[in-house]
Amino acid sequence: MAPLPLLVLVLALWACHPEALRPPQLPEASNALRYHVTYVREPAPALDVEITRTREDSPLDFLFSQPGGVSRVLAVESEGPVHALTVSAEGRVIAPSGTRFLRYRYLLDANPRRGRRGLSASAGMGEGDAWHVAGRAWLLRPRTVTPSMRATLRVEGVDALLPWAPDPEGVYHLRGEDLVDSGLHGFGGRRCTARPPGAVLEVALLGRFSRMDDAALCEWLRQSAEVVLTVRRSFPYPRITVRLVSVPGRESSALFGTVQWSSPPSVSLFVGQDSAPESFQEDWVVLHEFLHLAHPPVLPRVPWLTEGLATYYTEVGRARAGRFSPEQAWTELLAGFARGRSAVAGRTMRDVVDSGDSYMGTYWTGALFALHLDVELRRATGNRHGLDEVLERLAASGPTATFDGFGAAVDAVAGRPLFGSLLARHLDAPAFAEQGALLQALGVEGGPDGVRLGAARDSPLREALEGR
Ligand SMILES: [Zn+2]
Repeated sequence: MAPLPLLVLVLALWACHPEALRPPQLPEASNALRYHVTYVREPAPALDVEITRTREDSPLDFLFSQPGGVSRVLAVESEGPVHALTVSAEGRVIAPSGTRFLRYRYLLDANPRRGRRGLSASAGMGEGDAWHVAGRAWLLRPRTVTPSMRATLRVEGVDALLPWAPDPEGVYHLRGEDLVDSGLHGFGGRRCTARPPGAVLEVALLGRFSRMDDAALCEWLRQSAEVVLTVRRSFPYPRITVRLVSVPGRESSALFGTVQWSSPPSVSLFVGQDSAPESFQEDWVVLHEFLHLAHPPVLPRVPWLTEGLATYYTEVGRARAGRFSPEQAWTELLAGFARGRSAVAGRTMRDVVDSGDSYMGTYWTGALFALHLDVELRRATGNRHGLDEVLERLAASGPTATFDGFGAAVDAVAGRPLFGSLLARHLDAPAFAEQGALLQALGVEGGPDGVRLGAARDSPLREALEGR
């Protein structure tokens, strides 16, 4: 359906990383660092960054989480001496003890990591005065942070869309963790606001779109975000930021998207500049990305589980939202299982998810497991609860989750131990071995003329998970 599914998967896989608890804001006096960022146009679009060490005990050891964008940083002492520091291959910068200021320039169009087909979700990408860049590429952050560390950040010379909400003066008040998991950033471009029920999406439109105006793009995001409400009772975050980046020479709607676990999470979508309005109605990438928000980040990361959940719910959510008939949703699920099966033929699920060498195998074994969990939960609860309830519990339990916490939430919803034994059945068998019996019980039959849905032992459970 989308031309670059593999790239979507790759980007989504690397995109997931920690978010921590947000403690109450501390007074300004406790700030250890002050970031002043100035957007410059000449000779090339760039960010000039000055970091002020405000205290004796402010950090001296810094890191570009994604090295390669900056090679030299100036360290300036209060009394004058200037040291030119070379950024190490690992991105590390260690300032001399008397350093008051650190200064460097990040070139937005230098793009050392531009990937396939000229697209890059992390290094600078854009045109004119509209740029997309990940914080990890341009932001020099302390190598280690403490829970009490605070910093301020201000951007001048351009309208910025960072994951956080600024104060009325435009100053961002950040925790050390925000500098580490700094998310996705937009500089310049245009703005719109999308309001799915109970939430605000602050949107940066970066670049030109030839066949859709900004209001229509914003409406597309609103409708897409609403699909999350077929899974969760309320939108998981009151405010998130979304960057829509125009990709010249492409006609499909969302080419790829990524979520990063800044706090709150940040979403970016890379969209064909010449996309037709119809292609937005068929798009699934944005649904997949928004559905990643349906549960807290699982730490340490378990990509097969989180990608499996998003992949499963992308199809089920479209049926529940009325975008797909149930037959269409099952056709997509069966086609995905078939792609996964042919990618990992003969291997156990454990081998597939441990080695991580097949995105298709990882995503679709995860999606089959998510379907099976949903069905077993409905069997255990007389069809009163399913997988949605697990995500509600997980979200209520804190801003981050663990794999064990996910399993415990499954067992709590089921009212008996269920997760461990079902997982063992999937992991130790050839991948997709459970598929046949599961679909038969649900009354789902795939054939050359398409999917047929019929009465079977568990067809009421199937109809419930379809939202009927
Ligand atoms: Zn994903």
